[in-house]
Amino acid sequence: MPELAEVELARRQWAACHGDTIIDLNVHNKARIYRDCPSAALGILKGKILRSSHAHGKRMLFTFAPELHLEVHLGMSGKLSTAPPNYPEQKHDHLILHTAKAALIFNDYRMFGRVMLHDCANPWADLPPQPQDSKFSLIHVRKLIKRHPKKPLKALLLDQNACPGIGNWMADEICWRLGIHPGIATGTLEAKKLRKEIRFVTFGSLKHVADKNTKASSDGFAPGSYVANVPPKNWLFQHRWKKGGICPKCKTALARDTIASRTTAWCPNCQF
Ligand SMILES: [Zn+2]
Repeated sequence: MPELAEVELARRQWAACHGDTIIDLNVHNKARIYRDCPSAALGILKGKILRSSHAHGKRMLFTFAPELHLEVHLGMSGKLSTAPPNYPEQKHDHLILHTAKAALIFNDYRMFGRVMLHDCANPWADLPPQPQDSKFSLIHVRKLIKRHPKKPLKALLLDQNACPGIGNWMADEICWRLGIHPGIATGTLEAKKLRKEIRFVTFGSLKHVADKNTKASSDGFAPGSYVANVPPKNWLFQHRWKKGGICPKCKTALARDTIASRTTAWCPNCQF
């Protein structure tokens, strides 16, 4: 599932068309991505200019007017891309916004993704701070620990109200850098160290995966293949999906189990 860096990279694909008018759109009326918003409602975007966009955690907001925004979630397999204006619709392209110079495509073969329209000024006013925000302060992290003392570390990291945008691979990376078993109770953790590693992995992911010059790969999402660029070999990322993967620090074979309902990889030598 795309995490914050992959989502930022996806947002940037459509952001290439900021300032352009939507002249037409294709919607797959029955696609499940419209479960929160009838596909016909998207007709309101016709004639509107795509003015700006933002990502927050795993969601994106495309703004067409001060009180008109299209929110997009990629879900498990969603993908945003652009193509030349005469682009022929492909299977699983559930939404295409056409401008004079490009087609903005939302393709999602598993349809866990979704779209929503907002007709208010700031639909994201109440979202919790993301790890890369200045509001993700030491005080904030101390509060998170205090609020969830018995929650396993990995479950806290995956909680989108606590750490928006962090998903399975980033959570494993953070636990590994902390040298702490992903199942350990959050209440035993030191806030300063936890915040430091959450932010290291967040900024590192944005840098390695969503660098400004990086283009999304055309392969669709599979672990590590949605994006053309991935974190370096001294990250757990490159080893956690491999059969027989080893810890890049101590070369011990990685352990795997289900923690917080997700397949988790960790180093039994470095994390306890
Ligand atoms: Zn190790």
